[in-house]
Amino acid sequence: MNWLDIDKNHVWHPYNSLPSKTKILPVEKTDKTSIFLSTGEELIDAMSSWWSAIHGYNNPKLNDALKKQVEIMPHIMFGGLAHEQASILSKKLVELTGLNSVFLCDSGSVSVEVALKTAILYQKAKGLKKFKFLALENAYHGDTLGAMSVCDPNNSMHSIYGSYLSKHIFTKAPSLGFSSDCSEAIKELENILEKNKNEVAGFILEPIVQGAGGMRIYNPEYLKKARELCTKYDILLIADEIATGFGHTGKMFACEWASIKPDIMTIGKGLTGGYMTMAAMITSKNVSDIISNSEIGVLMHGPTFMGNPLACSVANASIDLLLEKSWQNDVKSIESIFTQELEKAKDLKLVKDVRNIGVIGVIELKDDCYAQKIQDYCVANGVWIRPFGKLVYSIVAYTIKEEDLRKIVKTMIKAINSLENQ
Ligand SMILES: *Cc1c(COP(=O)(O)O)cnc(C)c1O
Repeated sequence: MNWLDIDKNHVWHPYNSLPSKTKILPVEKTDKTSIFLSTGEELIDAMSSWWSAIHGYNNPKLNDALKKQVEIMPHIMFGGLAHEQASILSKKLVELTGLNSVFLCDSGSVSVEVALKTAILYQKAKGLKKFKFLALENAYHGDTLGAMSVCDPNNSMHSIYGSYLSKHIFTKAPSLGFSSDCSEAIKELENILEKNKNEVAGFILEPIVQGAGGMRIYNPEYLKKARELCTKYDILLIADEIATGFGHTGKMFACEWASIKPDIMTIGKGLTGGYMTMAAMITSKNVSDIISNSEIGVLMHGPTFMGNPLACSVANASIDLLLEKSWQNDVKSIESIFTQELEKAKDLKLVKDVRNIGVIGVIELKDDCYAQKIQDYCVANGVWIRPFGKLVYSIVAYTIKEEDLRKIVKTMIKAINSLENQ
């Protein structure tokens, strides 16, 4: 039996049926920003493996970090034991975020779970019964139950899982556009917080760009106001930087656009340069002090693979690589190429909006029925993208070549044109 047949009959893929109703492509290997299929084709990677492979694939420095670490210690339990790579990584994260207390875990969704649990513990430690969260419409925070419960109730899985999910409070997302007026959303936020200040433990949001819930870029003013109001009511501000972190928007973390610090930050995706599954929740010293000095006294969470040394070592190498390059310039060049190329999509009949920031380029269509056709067209023309709903987008590695980036956007546009001409 060919391995792709095994895959077809026995292996679940994300958000899919088994066997899959859609085409699954067999990958043989990757290199830099290319994906090589076992059928012989080479695809330019427009997705950077769900926004994680920020340096591209098979970077010699990252490969070496893993090889070196695997000889020393592939894994060790983190309960009661410490290791150097975890300390080095935590120091880097503390310096980069301006926060203090690092919880290393296995995936973005888990880091969100830990963030929600931490906020509840913090409020409890203060003697308060605050068990609700405030989240934004269009939010995406992951696929586990707690994370799902703070995703947009309409465009996520709320309707499937119904009353199994905890009920939280949602507020209007700031309007689309980095420079757009967001005063209406701020007004609603003020009202909701004033009304629910005694129940809400934390306000979780994706700073500056709402990712998987709609690829929506918004005004930093909203973040500033959110910070101010959360401080006023002692509600923890939880910035989910899993998608935006490590430079995707042009700043190391998107909170920097508003010059604010959250109480809790979650990071993942780009953390290990796309090599290993790892995420982290980082809090201010105040949050960890309040919990640790309370009657509860401990943060009740501990994954088996917490602080995995292989993941820590490759995360360290990835952050070093980022910092030793002029990544801001690379991201700026990518941003301006996206701006130029996306301009050409603005007037297409099927297109509702185009927008971009940092290494994120988005074409929003008027209808949501074309994703598969567009993907098929792009793959046939040498580009790997995975549109969802109305959104045809690309998030590229910082090492992408200019000609490849132009080809990605041109191919997306040709794909949309081919539909218009049908
Ligand atoms: C991807 C993502 C998550 C979930 O991370 P996983 O590693 O897939 O569990 C959470 N929040 C945001 C903003 C994300 O983009």
